[in-house]
Amino acid sequence: MKIKFLGAALSVTGSCHLVTTDHYKFLLDCGLFQGSEALEELNDQAFDFNPAEIDFMILSHAHVDHCGRIPLLVKQGFKGKIYCTGATAEIADIMLQDSGNIHEMDAKWINKRTTRSGQRQIDPLYTQEDAARCAQYFFPVAYGQIFEINSQIKIRLNEAGHILGAAIVEIWAQDDGKTTKLVYSGDIGAANQRMLNDPTLIAAADYLIMETTYGDRVHENQQESAKRFMDIIFKTVARGGTVVAPAFALGRTQDLIHVLEVFYDNHELYQNQLDKVKVYVDSPLATDATEIFRKNAHYFNDYIKERIKKGDELFYFRNLNFTKSIEQSKALNDNTSPKVIISSSGMADAGRVQHHLKHYLWKPKSSIVFAGYQAEGTTGRAITSGEKYVRILRERIRVNAEIYFLEGFSAHADKNDLLKWLAGFKEKPKKIFLVHGEEEAKKSFAITAKNILGLDCTVVEDVSEYSLGDEVVMVEGIKNRIDTKNQINKLKDNLGDIHDELDDLLAIPGIGITDAFPDEKLDDIAALTRDLEDTCQKLKTIIKK
Ligand SMILES: [Zn+2]
Repeated sequence: MKIKFLGAALSVTGSCHLVTTDHYKFLLDCGLFQGSEALEELNDQAFDFNPAEIDFMILSHAHVDHCGRIPLLVKQGFKGKIYCTGATAEIADIMLQDSGNIHEMDAKWINKRTTRSGQRQIDPLYTQEDAARCAQYFFPVAYGQIFEINSQIKIRLNEAGHILGAAIVEIWAQDDGKTTKLVYSGDIGAANQRMLNDPTLIAAADYLIMETTYGDRVHENQQESAKRFMDIIFKTVARGGTVVAPAFALGRTQDLIHVLEVFYDNHELYQNQLDKVKVYVDSPLATDATEIFRKNAHYFNDYIKERIKKGDELFYFRNLNFTKSIEQSKALNDNTSPKVIISSSGMADAGRVQHHLKHYLWKPKSSIVFAGYQAEGTTGRAITSGEKYVRILRERIRVNAEIYFLEGFSAHADKNDLLKWLAGFKEKPKKIFLVHGEEEAKKSFAITAKNILGLDCTVVEDVSEYSLGDEVVMVEGIKNRIDTKNQINKLKDNLGDIHDELDDLLAIPGIGITDAFPDEKLDDIAALTRDLEDTCQKLKTIIKK
């Protein structure tokens, strides 16, 4: 058996692993690369395999970084089944169609620009129609059932506790005359979540592919994050400000709604005060996903099932509004009353939340609450890292709002949860491959797993292929130069920001007079110059490697 890591190898996005046995070739996930421009360009590159030769695929869950390249696979000849849970199939359909729509809009915008400058037109990566065509390939498999894909391969999907329908995948494959058991963790959920059961402990594996998004971090506790969320809302509303929460349409939005609904239920006495705080969910995709969540209540934990039994309407409270049309969305920014806007995308790089950030980020009375992972190169990462200026919808915006990052809402296990899950193996895997994490997270978790559990982990650092025999051997390693490109793009951004700062300085009336010269402007420019030096330094180190 061989495994080739083709995505989520270098970073956390683009999950895609190719498994080859004596007779079959199959994929574990086929997700979109997201984040920096250099990463996203990888979506345009040809697959490292012929999609028509892939027998089937197993999809761990419906986040776009795990399923977002399925329409490309299908367009290029894949005809196999895609095994996943029923909820994943249902959600992936709307996620992919939304993604197709975004690619169409992006291409339209680029083509409008390139037409004016006489450049070549581009095609969207895939269209909404391409995405809709994929629904026929999904094949639902229930949690906990051992399912025979063919005479040689069996699988079992287990609750991952990450998002509705997410699975940890067990695979038994006949290869070279014997059965090999491979486990693919997909994304592992945090323990003690509000709505989902804890990730299933797996008893045994020969080989394990494991995510390490937060392999080097311990989250704040969930209750603490929920309490802070409410405190931020009341503090912001009291000073007449608006709270903007960029949230993933799938999972995080429903989590935030749930925290609010529980709070509203339990604080009837404050109803007058609460009535003043309107909450808007401004994402058509999140609204559709919430509907699917309501329909699939049997996937939730006992606590939620109990609430439903008692007559609780899931994801509902009096002040909650789901905005639909673009006009309603725009009206939120004309409405000056304090409020909460939950909108996607979660990393603030696309979708309606960009308009809200453009409107509220520069206002000191506002609060911006991030409640999920912010990948390198995204606007969300820049804001949560303390950047003073960010580019949103091609405009440079000053960050004056209060910025919060509530890690306790994360749908990902932290370092301790990951260790706890790994310790659950009664028969230890012969080899553990760490994927889906930034370099430091993977390396740090490998050390922790060795020190605490005595387990050897291989940090997957790049596109690479391993043969899994008595010995695990790397049979193919490809040097990916993406980091270099990343840093060069960063340099360009840095230079652009310095250029803008200098233009701003020149525009100040009376700039030639000493006392008209604003000192703090020089501090900003000095900080940007330090960033520039850092980036140059990083680039040098990468090139030396
Ligand atoms: Zn995920």
